[in-house]
Amino acid sequence: MEKVNAMNQENKNIKRVDIDQKYKWKLSDLYQNWDEWEKDYKKMDQMISEIASFKGKLRDNPETFAKAVLLNEEFDILSYKVFRYPQLMLDLNSKDQFVASKFQKVQILFSKFSIQNSWIAPEILSIPMETVIGWIDTNPDLEPHRFSIMNMFRLQKHVLSEDKEKLLSFYSQFSSSPKSIYSQLSTADIKFNEVKLSNDETIKISPANYSRILATNRNQDDRKKTFEALYSVYQDYQNTYASIYNASVQADWASSQARNYTSSLEAALEGDNIPTEVYRNLVQTVGENTAPLKRYARLRKKILGLEKYHVYDGSVAIVDFDKKYSYDDVTKWILESTEPLGGEYQEKLKNALNGKWIDVYETEGKRSGAYSAGVYGVHPYMLLNYNETLDSVFTLAHELGHTMHTMLSSEAQPFATHEYTIFIAEVASTFNERLLLDYLLNRTTDPKERIALLQQEIRNLTGTFYFQALLADFELQVHELAEKGEAITSEVLGDTMSAIYDKYYGDSVEKEDLLRVVWARVPHFFNSPFYVYQYATCFVSSAVLYDKITNPENSKAEREEALKKYISLLKSGGNDYPMEQLKKAGVDLTQKEVTLALTKQLDIMLDLLEKEIENLEK
Ligand SMILES: [Zn+2]
Repeated sequence: MEKVNAMNQENKNIKRVDIDQKYKWKLSDLYQNWDEWEKDYKKMDQMISEIASFKGKLRDNPETFAKAVLLNEEFDILSYKVFRYPQLMLDLNSKDQFVASKFQKVQILFSKFSIQNSWIAPEILSIPMETVIGWIDTNPDLEPHRFSIMNMFRLQKHVLSEDKEKLLSFYSQFSSSPKSIYSQLSTADIKFNEVKLSNDETIKISPANYSRILATNRNQDDRKKTFEALYSVYQDYQNTYASIYNASVQADWASSQARNYTSSLEAALEGDNIPTEVYRNLVQTVGENTAPLKRYARLRKKILGLEKYHVYDGSVAIVDFDKKYSYDDVTKWILESTEPLGGEYQEKLKNALNGKWIDVYETEGKRSGAYSAGVYGVHPYMLLNYNETLDSVFTLAHELGHTMHTMLSSEAQPFATHEYTIFIAEVASTFNERLLLDYLLNRTTDPKERIALLQQEIRNLTGTFYFQALLADFELQVHELAEKGEAITSEVLGDTMSAIYDKYYGDSVEKEDLLRVVWARVPHFFNSPFYVYQYATCFVSSAVLYDKITNPENSKAEREEALKKYISLLKSGGNDYPMEQLKKAGVDLTQKEVTLALTKQLDIMLDLLEKEIENLEK
C-alpha cells in the first residue's frame, strides 16, 4: 500500500535535469536490455500453452500434478521480472510510447494466461483432499505449496457447482459495473468548482488542490470556501452516488448469499481467514474511545486561535515549519534509527539504500506518490518524489519498511509463500516511521521541530487509525442495512455518516451539513469494500510490537524475545494466515485491549504536544 497521507504533491517546480546516477534506480538488475526481456517474454508465452496441455490430466498421477504446479510457479516467478521492467520505466516517463507498448504486451500475456488456465483451481479441487495431501506428503517439491492448496480446499465450501458458477459468471461484468460507473462519474464526468482565494488567485478545487489548500492555507475563510466548493459537487450528485453505492452494496450481499456466507463482512474477510469479531472489535472499541480525538480538536482550536473550529481546520500545521532535510542526511538517520532492530537488519537496510534501488527525486513525466515494488529473486524498487520536507522524510522511512519486509520474506521463504497479505503489509512500514520519529525527537530540542514531529505521529493516529475506523464503521452499518432489506438512499447514507461523525467528534467540531456526503469521496467504498479497516489494524499491530521491543519498562530479555519474534514475522511472508502470523509475534487482535492501547497512545502524544507548545510560548 502506498503511504496513506502522501497525497500532497507540492514543489511541482523541482525539475532536476542532472540527477546524480546514485539517486536513480538501476534497472539492469532486472535485464541488461530489451532483447533479454524479450527472451523471457517468449518463454512465458510458450509456458502458457505448456500449462494448458495439462488440462484434464491433474488427477492422473502425482507426477503430472507436481509438474503442472511447478510449471505454474515458474511462470509466476518470471512474471514479476517481465512485468516490472516496463512498469518501472513507464512510471518514470508515462509518455514513452515504446515502453507503453511493451507494457501492454505484458498485460495481454497475463490475460491470455488467465483465459487459457482458469481450469487449474477447479481441477485441483475436483481431486479428493486426502489424495492431494498424500501427494504433497511424498514430494518435497510440493511442500511449499501445501499452505495455498489447503487454503483452496478451506474455501471450497464457497465454490458452487459448475452450472451455478457458469450462471454467476454471466453476471460478473455486471456486478462490477458500480465500480466503473463510480470511477467514470468521479474522474471523467465530474466538474469541479472554482473559487477565488484571499490572494485573488482563482483555483479549481480538485481533490488534490483541496488537500493541498487545507494542509497549507492559513486563512480559515479560504479553507471554508475550498471545503464548500469540493463537497457541494458531491452533494449535487448525491442521489446518483447513493444509487451507485446501493448497487455496489447489493451486489456484495447478493454474491455473499449465493456463495453461502452469512454476511458481506464474512465474505470479505474469509479469504484471509480473519474472524469478523476482529473487525467488529475495532469499530466498537474505537467508537467508544473517541475522547482523545475530541481533545485534539479542542487543542488545535486553541493553538490556531480560532473562534470556531471546523472540519476543514483539521489538517493545517499548527506551527510554521519549513525546514528542509537533505536526502543524504536523512538516509544516515534512518539507518541509525533502526538500531533497535539489530545489526543484521541494519546491514540489509544499508544495501537497500546504497544499491540503487531507489528513484529519489521528482522529474518530468514521473508518476506522483511513493511505493516499494517487490521483484522476487531480484530486490524491491522504490519510487519516491523526495522534496526535502518532513513529510517526504517519513515517506522514505515508510517505503524502506516495506522494502525490508519484502527482502526478509523473499530471502527466508520459497516463492510460493514469500508474499505477505495486505493485513500485515503496513506493520513494518509504520514501525519504521515510529523508530524514526523517536530518533528525531531525541536529536532536537527546537520546540518547533518537535511539534512538527509530534504532529506527524498524531496525524498517523488520527488519519490512519481513527479515521479509517470511522470509515470501517460506516461501511459495516450500510452493508447491514442491505442485509436487513432496508432502503439505502442518500438520506439514509447522510444520516448514517452524520451520526458517526457525532460519535467521533461530538461538539469539538462545528456541525457541517456537507459532511453528510463524505462517503461519496471514498473510492475504497466502491472499489474494495471492507478494505480500509486494515490500515487501522496494521497500525495497532505495529504499535503493540513497537512497545514490546522498545519500552524500557520491559526487561532486556523480554525485549530481545519480542524482537526475535518480530523479525520472524517479517521473514514469514505469507506462510500462514495473517492472524496466526501476528499471534506468533505476540499480537492478538481479537483482544480489545490492544486497540484500546492505541487510543491511549494519542493521549500520551497530546500530553507531549501540550508541553512543547508551552516551551514555544516561553
Ligand atoms: Zn505503505
